[in-house]
Amino acid sequence: MKTAEIRRRYLAHFEANGHAVVPSAPLPAISDPNLLFVNAGMVQFVPYFLGQQTPPYPRAVSVQKCIRTPDIDEVGKTSRHGTFFQMNGNFSFGDYFKAGAIPLAWELSTKPVAEGGFGLDPERIWATVYLDDDEAYQIWRETGVPAERIVRRGKKDNFWSMGIPGPAGPCSELYYDRGPAYGREGGPEVDEDRYLEYWNLVFMQYEIADVTSKEHFRIVGDLPKKNIDTGMGLERMASLLQGVDNLYEIDEVRPILARAAELTGKRYGAHSGHVASESHPDDVRLRVIADHVRTALMLIGDGVTPSNEGRGYVLRRIMRRAIRAVRLLGWQDRALPELLPVARDCMAPSYPEIAAEFDRIAQYAYAEEDAFLATLRAGTTILDTAIAETKAAGQPALPGDKAFQLHDTYGFPIDLTLEIAAEQGLQVDADGFRRLMADQRARAKADAQARKTGHVDLSAYRTVLDAGGPVEFTGYTELNRESR
Ligand code: ATP
Ligand code: MG
Ligand code: MG
Ligand code: MG
Repeated sequence: MKTAEIRRRYLAHFEANGHAVVPSAPLPAISDPNLLFVNAGMVQFVPYFLGQQTPPYPRAVSVQKCIRTPDIDEVGKTSRHGTFFQMNGNFSFGDYFKAGAIPLAWELSTKPVAEGGFGLDPERIWATVYLDDDEAYQIWRETGVPAERIVRRGKKDNFWSMGIPGPAGPCSELYYDRGPAYGREGGPEVDEDRYLEYWNLVFMQYEIADVTSKEHFRIVGDLPKKNIDTGMGLERMASLLQGVDNLYEIDEVRPILARAAELTGKRYGAHSGHVASESHPDDVRLRVIADHVRTALMLIGDGVTPSNEGRGYVLRRIMRRAIRAVRLLGWQDRALPELLPVARDCMAPSYPEIAAEFDRIAQYAYAEEDAFLATLRAGTTILDTAIAETKAAGQPALPGDKAFQLHDTYGFPIDLTLEIAAEQGLQVDADGFRRLMADQRARAKADAQARKTGHVDLSAYRTVLDAGGPVEFTGYTELNRESR
Protein backbone atom coordinates (compact mmCIF):
# COMPACT_ATOMS: atom_id res chain seq x y z
CA MET A 1 0.00 0.00 0.00
CA LYS A 2 1.42 3.36 -1.04
CA THR A 3 2.19 5.91 1.68
CA ALA A 4 -0.28 8.35 0.13
CA GLU A 5 -3.00 5.70 0.38
CA ILE A 6 -2.22 5.01 4.06
CA ARG A 7 -2.56 8.72 4.71
CA ARG A 8 -5.87 8.82 2.85
CA ARG A 9 -7.28 5.83 4.74
CA TYR A 10 -6.29 7.28 8.08
CA LEU A 11 -8.03 10.57 7.37
CA ALA A 12 -11.08 8.78 5.96
CA HIS A 13 -11.41 6.47 8.97
CA PHE A 14 -11.42 9.30 11.46
CA GLU A 15 -13.47 11.64 9.31
CA ALA A 16 -16.13 8.94 9.12
CA ASN A 17 -15.99 8.89 12.91
CA GLY A 18 -16.79 12.56 13.31
CA HIS A 19 -13.31 14.14 13.19
CA ALA A 20 -12.63 17.46 11.47
CA VAL A 21 -9.80 17.12 8.95
CA VAL A 22 -7.17 19.74 9.85
CA PRO A 23 -4.20 20.47 7.59
CA SER A 24 -0.62 20.09 8.81
CA ALA A 25 0.94 23.12 10.47
CA PRO A 26 4.15 24.31 8.77
CA LEU A 27 7.37 22.74 10.05
CA PRO A 28 8.76 25.83 11.83
CA ALA A 29 7.08 25.92 15.24
CA ILE A 30 6.12 29.56 15.19
CA SER A 31 3.71 29.39 18.12
CA ASP A 32 6.22 27.98 20.61
CA PRO A 33 9.41 29.89 21.47
CA ASN A 34 10.95 26.77 23.04
CA LEU A 35 10.59 24.68 19.93
CA LEU A 36 12.41 25.07 16.62
CA PHE A 37 10.29 22.62 14.67
CA VAL A 38 6.98 20.91 15.09
CA ASN A 39 7.82 17.44 16.41
CA ALA A 40 4.35 15.96 16.94
CA GLY A 41 0.81 16.27 15.67
CA MET A 42 -0.43 17.81 18.91
CA VAL A 43 1.77 20.91 18.71
CA GLN A 44 -0.73 22.99 16.76
CA PHE A 45 -3.46 22.01 19.24
CA VAL A 46 -1.58 22.91 22.43
CA PRO A 47 -3.71 26.03 23.15
CA TYR A 48 -6.79 23.76 23.18
CA PHE A 49 -5.19 21.26 25.52
CA LEU A 50 -4.05 24.02 27.85
CA GLY A 51 -7.54 25.55 27.86
CA GLN A 52 -6.24 28.83 26.43
CA GLN A 53 -8.49 28.62 23.39
CA THR A 54 -11.77 26.92 22.67
CA PRO A 55 -11.42 24.34 19.91
CA PRO A 56 -13.80 24.90 16.99
CA TYR A 57 -14.42 21.13 16.85
CA PRO A 58 -14.53 18.41 19.53
CA ARG A 59 -12.53 15.93 17.37
CA ALA A 60 -9.79 16.45 14.83
CA VAL A 61 -7.56 14.38 12.57
CA SER A 62 -4.37 15.47 10.82
CA VAL A 63 -1.22 14.30 9.09
CA GLN A 64 1.45 16.52 10.60
CA LYS A 65 4.87 17.14 9.06
CA CYS A 66 7.43 16.64 11.82
CA ILE A 67 11.14 17.19 12.35
CA ARG A 68 13.03 15.45 15.15
CA THR A 69 16.68 16.40 15.04
CA PRO A 70 17.39 14.66 18.35
CA ASP A 71 16.85 11.45 16.36
CA ILE A 72 19.53 12.37 13.81
CA ASP A 73 22.11 9.94 15.14
CA GLU A 74 19.64 7.08 14.80
CA VAL A 75 18.95 7.78 11.14
CA GLY A 76 20.06 4.93 8.94
CA LYS A 77 21.11 2.82 11.91
CA THR A 78 17.68 1.90 13.24
CA SER A 79 14.85 0.83 11.00
CA ARG A 80 12.50 3.51 12.18
CA HIS A 81 13.88 7.02 12.70
CA GLY A 82 13.74 9.85 10.20
CA THR A 83 14.71 13.48 10.77
CA PHE A 84 11.58 14.32 8.78
CA PHE A 85 8.51 12.14 9.12
CA GLN A 86 4.74 12.42 9.08
CA MET A 87 2.65 11.82 12.13
CA ASN A 88 -0.96 10.84 11.58
CA GLY A 89 -2.99 11.78 14.60
CA ASN A 90 -6.51 11.86 15.95
CA PHE A 91 -7.46 14.19 18.75
CA SER A 92 -10.33 14.58 21.18
CA PHE A 93 -10.79 17.82 23.06
CA GLY A 94 -12.86 16.86 26.07
CA ASP A 95 -14.87 14.49 23.87
CA TYR A 96 -14.16 10.73 23.71
CA PHE A 97 -11.54 9.21 25.99
CA LYS A 98 -9.84 5.80 26.35
CA ALA A 99 -12.94 3.77 25.53
CA GLY A 100 -13.21 5.69 22.26
CA ALA A 101 -9.55 6.00 21.29
CA ILE A 102 -8.49 2.39 21.81
CA PRO A 103 -11.18 0.72 19.65
CA LEU A 104 -10.75 3.39 16.93
CA ALA A 105 -7.03 2.61 16.69
CA TRP A 106 -7.58 -1.12 16.85
CA GLU A 107 -10.27 -1.07 14.18
CA LEU A 108 -8.16 0.82 11.64
CA SER A 109 -5.08 -1.30 12.39
CA THR A 110 -6.82 -4.63 11.90
CA LYS A 111 -9.66 -3.99 9.46
CA PRO A 112 -8.97 -5.91 6.22
CA VAL A 113 -7.34 -3.98 3.40
CA ALA A 114 -10.32 -4.69 1.15
CA GLU A 115 -12.56 -2.90 3.66
CA GLY A 116 -10.45 0.25 3.94
CA GLY A 117 -8.21 -0.72 6.87
CA PHE A 118 -4.53 -1.57 7.24
CA GLY A 119 -5.10 -5.30 7.62
CA LEU A 120 -2.47 -5.92 10.31
CA ASP A 121 -2.54 -9.38 11.83
CA PRO A 122 -4.27 -8.87 15.22
CA GLU A 123 -2.22 -11.68 16.74
CA ARG A 124 0.98 -9.77 16.16
CA ILE A 125 -0.08 -6.50 17.77
CA TRP A 126 1.20 -5.73 21.26
CA ALA A 127 -0.08 -2.93 23.48
CA THR A 128 1.65 -1.22 26.37
CA VAL A 129 -0.06 0.60 29.22
CA TYR A 130 1.20 2.72 32.09
CA LEU A 131 1.92 0.77 35.30
CA ASP A 132 -1.31 1.56 37.13
CA ASP A 133 -3.57 2.26 34.17
CA ASP A 134 -6.03 -0.56 34.79
CA GLU A 135 -8.68 1.27 32.82
CA ALA A 136 -6.65 1.15 29.57
CA TYR A 137 -5.61 -2.43 30.34
CA GLN A 138 -9.23 -3.48 30.67
CA ILE A 139 -10.26 -1.75 27.45
CA TRP A 140 -7.46 -3.46 25.52
CA ARG A 141 -8.61 -6.80 26.91
CA GLU A 142 -12.20 -6.12 25.85
CA THR A 143 -11.02 -4.94 22.44
CA GLY A 144 -9.39 -8.30 21.87
CA VAL A 145 -5.77 -8.18 22.99
CA PRO A 146 -4.84 -11.14 25.22
CA ALA A 147 -3.14 -10.47 28.56
CA GLU A 148 0.19 -11.87 27.35
CA ARG A 149 0.47 -9.16 24.74
CA ILE A 150 -0.28 -6.24 27.06
CA VAL A 151 2.81 -4.89 28.80
CA ARG A 152 2.85 -2.47 31.71
CA ARG A 153 5.65 0.07 31.48
CA GLY A 154 6.88 2.96 33.60
CA LYS A 155 7.03 6.70 33.28
CA LYS A 156 9.88 6.83 30.79
CA ASP A 157 7.88 5.18 28.02
CA ASN A 158 4.29 5.39 29.10
CA PHE A 159 3.60 8.67 30.80
CA TRP A 160 3.24 11.87 28.83
CA SER A 161 3.70 15.44 29.94
CA MET A 162 5.12 18.62 28.49
CA GLY A 163 7.65 18.80 31.31
CA ILE A 164 5.80 21.81 32.73
CA PRO A 165 2.83 22.17 35.07
CA GLY A 166 -0.39 21.44 33.20
CA PRO A 167 -2.06 18.50 31.50
CA ALA A 168 -0.41 15.07 31.59
CA GLY A 169 -1.37 11.45 31.54
CA PRO A 170 -0.58 7.83 30.81
CA CYS A 171 -0.18 6.48 27.31
CA SER A 172 -0.56 3.26 25.40
CA GLU A 173 1.74 2.34 22.56
CA LEU A 174 1.02 -0.13 19.80
CA TYR A 175 3.77 -2.38 18.54
CA TYR A 176 3.80 -4.80 15.64
CA ASP A 177 5.76 -8.03 15.83
CA ARG A 178 7.72 -8.27 12.58
CA GLY A 179 8.73 -11.82 13.35
CA PRO A 180 11.81 -13.83 14.31
CA ALA A 181 13.84 -12.61 11.33
CA TYR A 182 13.98 -9.22 13.02
CA GLY A 183 15.15 -10.20 16.46
CA ARG A 184 14.41 -11.81 19.76
CA GLU A 185 11.02 -12.87 21.01
CA GLY A 186 9.50 -11.39 24.18
CA GLY A 187 7.81 -8.12 23.36
CA PRO A 188 8.84 -4.48 22.99
CA GLU A 189 10.87 -4.49 26.19
CA VAL A 190 13.15 -7.11 24.68
CA ASP A 191 13.63 -5.92 21.11
CA GLU A 192 12.42 -2.62 19.63
CA ASP A 193 13.60 -3.61 16.18
CA ARG A 194 11.51 -6.73 15.96
CA TYR A 195 8.58 -5.12 17.78
CA LEU A 196 8.07 -1.90 15.88
CA GLU A 197 6.31 0.93 17.69
CA TYR A 198 3.85 2.42 15.25
CA TRP A 199 1.23 4.29 17.29
CA ASN A 200 1.14 6.13 20.57
CA LEU A 201 -2.14 6.98 22.29
CA VAL A 202 -1.88 9.68 24.97
CA PHE A 203 -4.62 9.91 27.55
CA MET A 204 -4.50 13.42 29.04
CA GLN A 205 -6.36 13.09 32.31
CA TYR A 206 -4.31 14.71 35.09
CA GLU A 207 -3.18 18.11 36.09
CA ILE A 208 0.43 18.03 37.33
CA ALA A 209 2.50 20.47 39.41
CA ASP A 210 5.94 20.67 41.08
CA VAL A 211 7.52 19.44 37.90
CA THR A 212 11.28 19.05 38.19
CA SER A 213 11.68 16.66 35.25
CA LYS A 214 9.60 14.56 32.93
CA GLU A 215 9.60 11.80 35.48
CA HIS A 216 9.34 13.88 38.66
CA PHE A 217 6.13 15.77 39.35
CA ARG A 218 3.05 15.71 41.55
CA ILE A 219 -0.41 14.85 40.29
CA VAL A 220 -2.74 17.49 41.74
CA GLY A 221 -6.00 16.21 40.34
CA ASP A 222 -8.11 15.25 37.36
CA LEU A 223 -8.48 17.56 34.39
CA PRO A 224 -11.98 19.00 34.10
CA LYS A 225 -11.97 17.85 30.47
CA LYS A 226 -10.00 14.79 29.43
CA ASN A 227 -8.28 14.78 26.06
CA ILE A 228 -6.91 12.33 23.55
CA ASP A 229 -3.74 12.91 21.52
CA THR A 230 -2.45 10.14 19.28
CA GLY A 231 0.43 9.80 16.86
CA MET A 232 0.89 7.10 14.25
CA GLY A 233 4.13 7.16 12.28
CA LEU A 234 3.09 7.22 8.64
CA GLU A 235 6.44 5.99 7.37
CA ARG A 236 6.53 3.22 9.96
CA MET A 237 3.09 2.01 8.92
CA ALA A 238 4.26 2.19 5.29
CA SER A 239 7.31 0.04 6.09
CA LEU A 240 5.00 -2.57 7.64
CA LEU A 241 2.44 -2.55 4.84
CA GLN A 242 5.04 -2.49 2.08
CA GLY A 243 6.91 -5.37 3.70
CA VAL A 244 10.24 -3.56 3.69
CA ASP A 245 12.94 -3.67 6.33
CA ASN A 246 13.02 0.00 7.28
CA LEU A 247 11.50 3.38 6.59
CA TYR A 248 14.22 4.38 4.11
CA GLU A 249 12.95 1.68 1.79
CA ILE A 250 9.35 2.84 1.49
CA ASP A 251 7.96 4.34 -1.71
CA GLU A 252 8.50 7.94 -0.54
CA VAL A 253 12.18 7.48 0.28
CA ARG A 254 13.64 4.53 -1.61
CA PRO A 255 13.89 6.26 -5.01
CA ILE A 256 16.21 8.90 -3.50
CA LEU A 257 18.33 6.17 -1.97
CA ALA A 258 18.39 4.31 -5.29
CA ARG A 259 19.54 7.41 -7.18
CA ALA A 260 22.29 8.03 -4.61
CA ALA A 261 23.44 4.44 -5.01
CA GLU A 262 23.48 4.79 -8.77
CA LEU A 263 25.42 8.05 -8.59
CA THR A 264 28.06 6.69 -6.23
CA GLY A 265 28.23 3.25 -7.82
CA LYS A 266 27.30 1.48 -4.60
CA ARG A 267 25.08 -1.55 -4.47
CA TYR A 268 22.65 -1.01 -1.58
CA GLY A 269 22.35 -4.00 0.72
CA ALA A 270 25.27 -5.83 -0.82
CA HIS A 271 27.13 -6.33 2.45
CA SER A 272 24.61 -5.81 5.21
CA GLY A 273 23.18 -8.13 7.79
CA HIS A 274 19.45 -8.57 7.90
CA VAL A 275 18.49 -5.95 10.46
CA ALA A 276 19.24 -2.25 10.23
CA SER A 277 21.55 -2.26 13.23
CA GLU A 278 23.90 -4.68 11.44
CA SER A 279 24.23 -2.51 8.38
CA HIS A 280 27.36 -1.86 6.38
CA PRO A 281 28.48 1.81 6.73
CA ASP A 282 27.82 2.42 3.03
CA ASP A 283 24.19 1.38 3.45
CA VAL A 284 23.83 3.63 6.50
CA ARG A 285 25.21 6.52 4.44
CA LEU A 286 22.80 5.86 1.59
CA ARG A 287 19.91 5.95 4.06
CA VAL A 288 21.23 9.13 5.65
CA ILE A 289 21.43 10.76 2.22
CA ALA A 290 17.88 9.72 1.32
CA ASP A 291 16.50 10.89 4.65
CA HIS A 292 18.36 14.19 4.78
CA VAL A 293 17.64 15.17 1.18
CA ARG A 294 13.96 14.65 1.77
CA THR A 295 14.15 16.62 5.01
CA ALA A 296 15.92 19.51 3.26
CA LEU A 297 13.27 19.53 0.54
CA MET A 298 10.45 19.74 3.07
CA LEU A 299 12.19 22.35 5.25
CA ILE A 300 13.00 24.69 2.37
CA GLY A 301 9.50 24.05 1.08
CA ASP A 302 8.19 25.44 4.38
CA GLY A 303 10.29 28.57 4.11
CA VAL A 304 13.44 27.66 6.04
CA THR A 305 16.69 28.74 4.36
CA PRO A 306 20.25 27.74 5.24
CA SER A 307 21.93 30.10 7.68
CA ASN A 308 24.24 30.18 10.68
CA GLU A 309 21.64 30.19 13.39
CA GLY A 310 18.44 28.68 14.60
CA ARG A 311 16.31 26.76 12.14
CA GLY A 312 18.49 27.71 9.20
CA TYR A 313 21.50 26.22 10.93
CA VAL A 314 19.73 22.93 11.52
CA LEU A 315 18.88 22.84 7.81
CA ARG A 316 22.47 23.69 6.90
CA ARG A 317 23.85 20.92 9.08
CA ILE A 318 21.42 18.37 7.66
CA MET A 319 22.28 19.35 4.09
CA ARG A 320 26.00 19.30 4.75
CA ARG A 321 25.75 15.91 6.36
CA ALA A 322 24.02 14.55 3.25
CA ILE A 323 26.56 16.15 0.93
CA ARG A 324 29.47 14.77 2.93
CA ALA A 325 27.94 11.32 2.92
CA VAL A 326 27.75 11.47 -0.87
CA ARG A 327 31.44 12.42 -1.03
CA LEU A 328 32.42 9.68 1.39
CA LEU A 329 30.74 7.24 -0.98
CA GLY A 330 32.98 8.50 -3.75
CA TRP A 331 30.99 11.08 -5.70
CA GLN A 332 32.80 14.43 -5.63
CA ASP A 333 30.60 16.61 -7.85
CA ARG A 334 27.32 18.37 -7.13
CA ALA A 335 24.81 15.80 -5.97
CA LEU A 336 21.66 17.72 -5.13
CA PRO A 337 20.69 18.45 -8.74
CA GLU A 338 20.55 14.66 -9.11
CA LEU A 339 18.78 13.88 -5.83
CA LEU A 340 16.41 16.72 -5.04
CA PRO A 341 14.17 16.26 -8.11
CA VAL A 342 13.78 12.60 -7.14
CA ALA A 343 12.70 13.65 -3.64
CA ARG A 344 10.25 16.10 -5.20
CA ASP A 345 8.67 13.34 -7.27
CA CYS A 346 8.34 11.19 -4.13
CA MET A 347 6.59 13.87 -2.11
CA ALA A 348 4.55 15.70 -4.74
CA PRO A 349 1.58 13.29 -4.68
CA SER A 350 0.88 14.29 -1.06
CA TYR A 351 2.35 17.81 -1.24
CA PRO A 352 1.57 19.38 -4.63
CA GLU A 353 2.99 22.69 -3.36
CA ILE A 354 6.44 21.07 -3.35
CA ALA A 355 6.23 20.60 -7.11
CA ALA A 356 4.80 24.07 -7.64
CA GLU A 357 7.55 25.70 -5.58
CA PHE A 358 10.37 23.49 -6.72
CA ASP A 359 12.36 26.13 -8.59
CA ARG A 360 12.64 28.28 -5.49
CA ILE A 361 13.51 25.29 -3.29
CA ALA A 362 16.15 24.07 -5.74
CA GLN A 363 17.74 27.50 -5.99
CA TYR A 364 18.46 27.59 -2.25
CA ALA A 365 19.53 23.98 -2.10
CA TYR A 366 21.94 24.10 -5.03
CA ALA A 367 23.49 27.39 -3.88
CA GLU A 368 24.08 25.88 -0.45
CA GLU A 369 25.76 22.85 -1.95
CA ASP A 370 28.03 25.01 -4.10
CA ALA A 371 29.03 27.13 -1.11
CA PHE A 372 29.74 24.04 0.96
CA LEU A 373 31.79 22.38 -1.75
CA ALA A 374 33.90 25.53 -1.97
CA THR A 375 34.40 25.51 1.81
CA LEU A 376 35.39 21.87 1.70
CA ARG A 377 37.91 22.51 -1.05
CA ALA A 378 39.49 25.29 0.97
CA GLY A 379 39.60 23.54 4.33
CA THR A 380 40.10 19.87 3.66
CA THR A 381 43.81 19.95 2.77
CA ILE A 382 44.59 21.93 5.90
CA LEU A 383 42.52 19.67 8.08
CA ASP A 384 44.05 16.53 6.57
CA THR A 385 47.54 17.88 7.23
CA ALA A 386 46.62 18.80 10.80
CA ILE A 387 45.16 15.34 11.36
CA ALA A 388 48.29 13.66 9.99
CA GLU A 389 50.53 15.83 12.20
CA THR A 390 48.44 15.14 15.27
CA LYS A 391 48.57 11.42 14.65
CA ALA A 392 52.30 11.47 13.91
CA ALA A 393 52.85 13.25 17.22
CA GLY A 394 50.83 10.57 18.97
CA GLN A 395 48.33 13.12 20.27
CA PRO A 396 44.71 12.12 20.91
CA ALA A 397 43.22 15.50 20.00
CA LEU A 398 43.52 18.03 17.25
CA PRO A 399 44.81 21.31 18.75
CA GLY A 400 42.20 23.99 19.42
CA ASP A 401 44.10 26.60 17.44
CA LYS A 402 43.90 24.42 14.32
CA ALA A 403 40.16 24.08 14.68
CA PHE A 404 39.97 27.81 15.27
CA GLN A 405 42.11 28.64 12.22
CA LEU A 406 39.94 26.41 10.05
CA HIS A 407 36.84 28.11 11.34
CA ASP A 408 38.18 31.64 11.29
CA THR A 409 40.11 31.66 8.03
CA TYR A 410 38.35 29.06 5.93
CA GLY A 411 34.82 29.15 7.27
CA PHE A 412 35.14 25.47 8.11
CA PRO A 413 32.41 24.75 10.67
CA ILE A 414 33.57 23.29 13.98
CA ASP A 415 31.01 20.47 13.89
CA LEU A 416 32.51 19.33 10.62
CA THR A 417 36.01 19.42 12.08
CA LEU A 418 34.71 17.33 15.00
CA GLU A 419 33.04 14.87 12.66
CA ILE A 420 36.01 14.42 10.34
CA ALA A 421 38.42 14.16 13.26
CA ALA A 422 36.17 11.52 14.85
CA GLU A 423 36.23 9.50 11.64
CA GLN A 424 40.01 9.47 11.99
CA GLY A 425 39.77 8.38 15.62
CA LEU A 426 40.75 11.80 16.95
CA GLN A 427 39.14 14.22 19.34
CA VAL A 428 39.32 17.98 19.09
CA ASP A 429 40.53 20.24 21.87
CA ALA A 430 37.15 21.90 22.16
CA ASP A 431 38.11 23.89 25.29
CA GLY A 432 41.04 25.43 23.46
CA PHE A 433 38.79 26.19 20.51
CA ARG A 434 36.19 27.83 22.73
CA ARG A 435 38.87 29.93 24.50
CA LEU A 436 40.06 31.29 21.18
CA MET A 437 36.50 31.99 20.12
CA ALA A 438 35.87 33.84 23.39
CA ASP A 439 39.10 35.83 22.96
CA GLN A 440 38.01 36.79 19.51
CA ARG A 441 34.63 37.91 20.75
CA ALA A 442 36.22 39.92 23.55
CA ARG A 443 38.52 41.59 21.02
CA ALA A 444 35.61 42.45 18.78
CA LYS A 445 33.80 43.96 21.76
CA ALA A 446 36.82 45.97 22.86
CA ASP A 447 37.24 47.20 19.30
CA ALA A 448 33.62 48.28 19.18
CA GLN A 449 34.09 50.06 22.49
CA ALA A 450 37.24 51.77 21.25
CA ARG A 451 35.41 52.87 18.17
CA LYS A 452 32.70 54.37 20.28
CA THR A 453 35.12 56.21 22.53
CA GLY A 454 37.12 57.41 19.58
CA HIS A 455 40.50 55.83 20.31
CA VAL A 456 40.94 54.49 16.82
CA ASP A 457 38.84 54.35 13.73
CA LEU A 458 38.04 50.75 12.96
CA SER A 459 35.11 51.43 10.70
CA ALA A 460 36.98 49.85 7.81
CA TYR A 461 36.56 46.50 9.55
CA ARG A 462 32.83 46.91 9.57
CA THR A 463 32.56 45.63 6.01
CA VAL A 464 34.58 42.55 6.94
CA LEU A 465 32.37 41.87 9.90
CA ASP A 466 29.25 42.47 7.87
CA ALA A 467 30.40 40.10 5.17
CA GLY A 468 31.51 37.29 7.46
CA GLY A 469 29.62 38.06 10.61
CA PRO A 470 30.74 37.04 14.08
CA VAL A 471 30.02 33.35 14.29
CA GLU A 472 29.18 31.58 17.49
CA PHE A 473 29.66 27.91 18.19
CA THR A 474 26.10 26.73 18.60
CA GLY A 475 26.70 23.33 17.02
CA TYR A 476 25.23 20.54 18.98
CA THR A 477 23.18 22.55 21.43
CA GLU A 478 21.19 24.13 18.60
CA LEU A 479 20.46 20.75 17.18
CA ASN A 480 19.22 19.37 20.45
CA ARG A 481 17.37 22.37 21.71
CA GLU A 482 14.01 21.35 20.52
CA SER A 483 13.90 18.00 22.22
CA ARG A 484 11.53 18.03 25.13
P1 ATP B 1 10.69 5.64 19.35
O1 ATP B 1 10.59 5.10 20.74
O2 ATP B 1 10.65 4.59 18.30
O3 ATP B 1 11.82 6.62 19.19
P2 ATP B 1 8.79 7.60 20.16
O4 ATP B 1 8.21 6.90 21.34
O5 ATP B 1 9.86 8.61 20.40
O6 ATP B 1 9.35 6.51 19.10
P3 ATP B 1 6.37 9.13 19.88
O7 ATP B 1 6.90 10.37 20.49
O8 ATP B 1 5.49 8.26 20.68
O9 ATP B 1 7.62 8.29 19.29
O10 ATP B 1 5.68 9.53 18.50
C1 ATP B 1 4.48 8.92 17.99
C2 ATP B 1 4.78 8.07 16.78
O11 ATP B 1 5.51 8.78 15.78
C3 ATP B 1 5.63 6.86 17.07
O12 ATP B 1 4.84 5.80 17.57
C4 ATP B 1 6.22 6.54 15.70
O13 ATP B 1 5.32 5.78 14.95
C5 ATP B 1 6.38 7.91 15.07
N1 ATP B 1 7.76 8.41 15.17
C6 ATP B 1 8.37 8.95 16.26
N2 ATP B 1 9.63 9.36 15.98
C7 ATP B 1 9.82 9.08 14.67
C8 ATP B 1 10.92 9.29 13.77
N3 ATP B 1 12.06 9.88 14.18
N4 ATP B 1 10.78 8.89 12.49
C9 ATP B 1 9.63 8.30 12.07
N5 ATP B 1 8.56 8.08 12.86
C10 ATP B 1 8.65 8.47 14.15
MG1 MG C 1 11.89 8.56 19.97
MG1 MG D 1 8.88 4.93 22.07
MG1 MG E 1 6.14 6.53 21.71
